Amino acid sequence: MTPPAPSLVALRTDPPRFSIDEAVGLARALFGVEGDARLLYGERDQNFHIRPASGDGIVLKIVSAAEGAAAIDYQTETLTHLLRTDPGVPVPRVVPTRDATPYGWTNDAAGTAYLVRAVGYQPGQPLEGAAAGHTLLRDIGRMLARLDRALGGLAAPPHAAPLVWDPRSAVSLRHFTNLIPSAERRRMVERIIDRFADLLPSYSGLRHQTIHNDGHAGNLLIDGSARAVAGILDFGDMIHGPLAFELAVPAAEIDGDGLGPLDSAAELLTGYSAILPLDAGEIAAFYQAILVRHALNITIQAWRTAHDPTGAAKLDGTVAHAVAALDTLLSLDEAKSLALLADAGQPIQERRRRRLGPGLELSYQRPVHFGRGEGAVLYDLEGRGYIDCYNNVPSVGHGNKIVADAIGRQMAEICSNTRYLHHTVLDYADRLTRTLPDGLETCLFVNSGSEANDAAWRIVKAVTGHTGMLVMSNAYHGITDAVATLSPYYGARIEPIAPHVKALEAPDLYRGRIRGDDPAAAVSYAAAADVAIAELIQSGHGVGGFLFDTGFVSNGILDVPAGYVAAVVEKVRAAGGLIIADEVQAGFGRTGDTLWGFQRYGIIPDLVTLGKPMANGHPVGAVVTRPALLDRFTDRVEFFSTFGGNPVSAAAALATLDIIERDGLRAHALVTGEFFRNGIKKLAQYHPAIGDVRGSGLLIGVDVVTDRHSRGPDPATARLLVNRLRDRHVLIGIDGPHGNVLKIRPPLPITQDQVGRALDALRSALESLQT
Ligand code: PMP
Repeated sequence: MTPPAPSLVALRTDPPRFSIDEAVGLARALFGVEGDARLLYGERDQNFHIRPASGDGIVLKIVSAAEGAAAIDYQTETLTHLLRTDPGVPVPRVVPTRDATPYGWTNDAAGTAYLVRAVGYQPGQPLEGAAAGHTLLRDIGRMLARLDRALGGLAAPPHAAPLVWDPRSAVSLRHFTNLIPSAERRRMVERIIDRFADLLPSYSGLRHQTIHNDGHAGNLLIDGSARAVAGILDFGDMIHGPLAFELAVPAAEIDGDGLGPLDSAAELLTGYSAILPLDAGEIAAFYQAILVRHALNITIQAWRTAHDPTGAAKLDGTVAHAVAALDTLLSLDEAKSLALLADAGQPIQERRRRRLGPGLELSYQRPVHFGRGEGAVLYDLEGRGYIDCYNNVPSVGHGNKIVADAIGRQMAEICSNTRYLHHTVLDYADRLTRTLPDGLETCLFVNSGSEANDAAWRIVKAVTGHTGMLVMSNAYHGITDAVATLSPYYGARIEPIAPHVKALEAPDLYRGRIRGDDPAAAVSYAAAADVAIAELIQSGHGVGGFLFDTGFVSNGILDVPAGYVAAVVEKVRAAGGLIIADEVQAGFGRTGDTLWGFQRYGIIPDLVTLGKPMANGHPVGAVVTRPALLDRFTDRVEFFSTFGGNPVSAAAALATLDIIERDGLRAHALVTGEFFRNGIKKLAQYHPAIGDVRGSGLLIGVDVVTDRHSRGPDPATARLLVNRLRDRHVLIGIDGPHGNVLKIRPPLPITQDQVGRALDALRSALESLQT
């Protein structure tokens, strides 16, 4: 049976014709808003922007006489509901009349009554006419998903007749396809509609709800960056139907910048799925609804050409676009198109598992998806801020414009390699070595902490001729085969710890063999090095050296006994070994008291390895050593890293070091870290789960225990705390051999206020343990 024909009369684009002066008078009389008026586009309503001397003003809407008051009441209810349910969705707010009613009335000269209403003017640029990049398309998808999530509970709109722009209306509009002048286009449109008519009954099983159904470029505003949606307008075409239809309008009508229609649809779907994933059936319906939207545009254009020439002229561009898009979409293999959309529509966790493998760990029980960051705050896709107390890599703050500009400028100029002369890497090496003790003056640039340790290890072997190495128990130094062997950290290696590697007992004053401030601790723990050295000599490996993380992070961020490091260093040197200070975690001012972690122990290493925070997230690593040591290595091998020391990396590292020094971030880390630790110690007075608070500057470890007497590590509670903090929008991590030490190492510019809020969240998370 053919569904009832929608009333095409509603398509006539003859909005009311009030004058500018009348609009000014209506705004004043009905809404008490005094300002000049500017006519805005309206398909059915006549819209004016009323601009007062200050503020954004209102949009005065003189509603088409064809529209019923029930539909307007429904829009008012919807906008109010949206604002209450998700205030982050940028929709206009309803402006009541001076009598506190949702709308008023006026008459034209002929005595016809018109409903007059007002909404807040949404600032922003119209998307119409602009090409949408990937980021914007995804944001449109996300915003429409948030809108749909909020619309979920609403009743169906009270349409008197089926709405023309409801994709399902295409079936009855099939009557009008004979108005399409080109026989070829007509057949294309009919095929699409007939196929859709066949499929429609199967869509009854899909999720249905109220949807906006009108997210085309004319109804979307974008912000100044052209990367985010700033406004969603026009709630006059809402329908109750398959959720899957929502994205069909933007997918059909918004041009992706340099993207074909299918790729644009995929981007929109990726954004949408991050909030509201669609299943395979819904994705297939989405695809059909895109085709149908184009078919509707072509058919309605044909009807308008016959019945409403003014409206038809406005649709010309849309139709040319619809024809081109259909030509492209229909030339593609449909199964492949659906597969591409299904990939894009997969929840991001699924895609990640498939493309990056299931082994890649994801933080938090409820993983977070961030869109941007600023300073010590990360913002999720819905714009909610999280205080980042975990990421040490963006050492001078997320989204740092100075570093970004340095990278951009250099990249636009030249990015080559160290086999050509270039000053940037030398400028950086000058500055870097100036911060290190005399003698440590030659740099070997690589691309990660792992590579730095790998190169340092090669230098040690080449210089000493020994192959034995001392490391700390549970140490982590990176992912290369050789360095993984130097990493007893659980999970870092496939093989058991190798015979050439000796792991030293951690000098853990909280849970170790000797505790507290026992003066014998340093000597006693360091004695483990004697045993290790003797074994390495005996096995013929000899002592190449000692590699240690100067923050003792994977040991649980230990405060090691005074004199311990110096004692081990002395023993290793006496056996002919070299000292590698791994500053990947603690370097660049994190510990506050000194720029480099090793300086806290009164030693001067032979090699220093750098990574993570070095260039605020740009991948850079380095080994700094004495010239004679490097010479003895490079005499024998040619060491060249294609990307290592390239001008862009050097510019990024230079800008980062500049900011650390210029903004006094080391001193800031010292003070802010102390404030943070003291705050946690205060919480410990009431919360026995906190057994110990350690670290220096903005490298903080909190040892979570089952009870303070036994000091038993409590990894389960630590995990609970990390997840509950995440729910309270504070990010931290876990480390230590038992997985029970809260790891806190925020970007250095974190403010005292942000630390205060993180402490509040920690208090609340700790209190939640007791319920
Ligand atoms: N050394 C230490 C102390 C580290 O913590 C890490 C990384 N967690 C590395 C080396 C390896 O650095 P990357 O991941 O950049 O290779």
